[in-house]
Amino acid sequence: MEANGFLHHFVSPGGIGAVFNSLTLEITTNLHSPSPFDPETILESCRSFCSSPSVTMATFFVTGDCPRKCGYCFVPGTLGTLTTAEVDHGLEMLSDLAPGKADILIYGGEPLLKPEIVLRIIRGSGDDRNLCLATGGWGVSREVAGALAERNGFVIVSIDGAKGVHNELRPLSGGDSFQSAVRTFHAFRDAGCRVGISLTVTRGNAGRVREDFGYLMETLKPDDMGINAWMHPRPGLSSNPFEARWEDVFDAVTGCLSDALSAGMYVEQLFRRLRPLVTRAPRLRDCPSRGGRLVFVPGGGVSPCDCMAAAGVNTVLDRQGIQKLLSDFSTLVPVFREGCLSCPCVALCGGGCLYDALACTGCLTGVREERCSYERALLKWMVGTILDNQLLDRKPGVLSIGEMTAFLPDGILEKARMPQPEAMLGGEMTCLQRAGSN
Ligand code: SF4
Ligand code: SF4
Ligand code: SF4
Repeated sequence: MEANGFLHHFVSPGGIGAVFNSLTLEITTNLHSPSPFDPETILESCRSFCSSPSVTMATFFVTGDCPRKCGYCFVPGTLGTLTTAEVDHGLEMLSDLAPGKADILIYGGEPLLKPEIVLRIIRGSGDDRNLCLATGGWGVSREVAGALAERNGFVIVSIDGAKGVHNELRPLSGGDSFQSAVRTFHAFRDAGCRVGISLTVTRGNAGRVREDFGYLMETLKPDDMGINAWMHPRPGLSSNPFEARWEDVFDAVTGCLSDALSAGMYVEQLFRRLRPLVTRAPRLRDCPSRGGRLVFVPGGGVSPCDCMAAAGVNTVLDRQGIQKLLSDFSTLVPVFREGCLSCPCVALCGGGCLYDALACTGCLTGVREERCSYERALLKWMVGTILDNQLLDRKPGVLSIGEMTAFLPDGILEKARMPQPEAMLGGEMTCLQRAGSN
């Protein structure tokens, strides 16, 4: 891949050459005359989009308690549990700061250990909120599962592979962690919830992720398969020894994506890159922590980031404090970083995870090089896949959105497939918001 300002040359595995415009996301096989564009105007509209975000999601960190003991866990066990007053306060703040649509993530630790708090969040959230609950698997009452189903809730169950792999990575003291996760999966599905699986890639399972991904997809037929490709630092901002090499993450992710596409399966983490590329809607914020996320933790703290909230970093107690943090965080994106402007991923990676960058570089404006290498390799893979799916007798020229999406299963880009649509789409700039590209 060669860089020339915002124009980058790619050659697909099948030998098709193309020029990719990293600002407009145009791909053209006419190597000598890419469409004219005005970088300054486009950058201005991208920066303006990023600096005026709205709150699109809230995470309720129900509890730090959890019956499993995953070695890679980033949640400090000392976090405590949300009180009902803290839930009510959080819902009120969310209503004030996000009067329109927003997503709510019910999170932990293991939130199902505290059903009364989970129910309070479900019942106290307005009809316009999409609800998503993340669990490692635990007994769930009909009342809780039914309340979530009534709200068309999405449940994400963490399962790291087939039984042996899962039980090794996510041990449950005195119990069968895999069985517990599968039981929880069925309990929510039987109640009528949409249920997805999140599979974590670690140094230990990277080599067999594709096989386990296929096994889980085939046996449980979830509504979404998530791949948790990156480990967050552990408490104390120490690097996570379970993290796989980025090259292994890349192999695992692209292998799973190929299989998921063949099976018509939505894969949230991967579609965060593929959807913006094929629809030419720049993804400028990868995570809503950049101005659009409220995270409520036990003790009354609120932060723009899940991990920072759990670690007590950039976590405040009052509305003014969080509004300032949201505003400060909104510009921590590639289009504001000089060093990112020459990168082909400037309008696609959304800047990755702020907490990881903080842990790795000591500052919020830093970037984590391994993740950047992975992002560039993934972009190259996606562009190569798109190019190699074009008709052989196609005349050189700009690929239309129809041509770029032709290899995707019907309906796979629909909003209804996404666990947290407002949060995820809030980081993508549609053509109506864009200026300066032809
Ligand atoms: S299930 Fe989740 S919260 Fe519990 S120990 Fe494992 S990673 Fe941590
Ligand atoms: S910045 Fe990273 S840790 Fe924080 S909410 Fe976003 S993805 Fe999670
Ligand atoms: S991949 Fe890294 S260098 Fe490239 S735009 Fe994203 S954060 Fe910047």
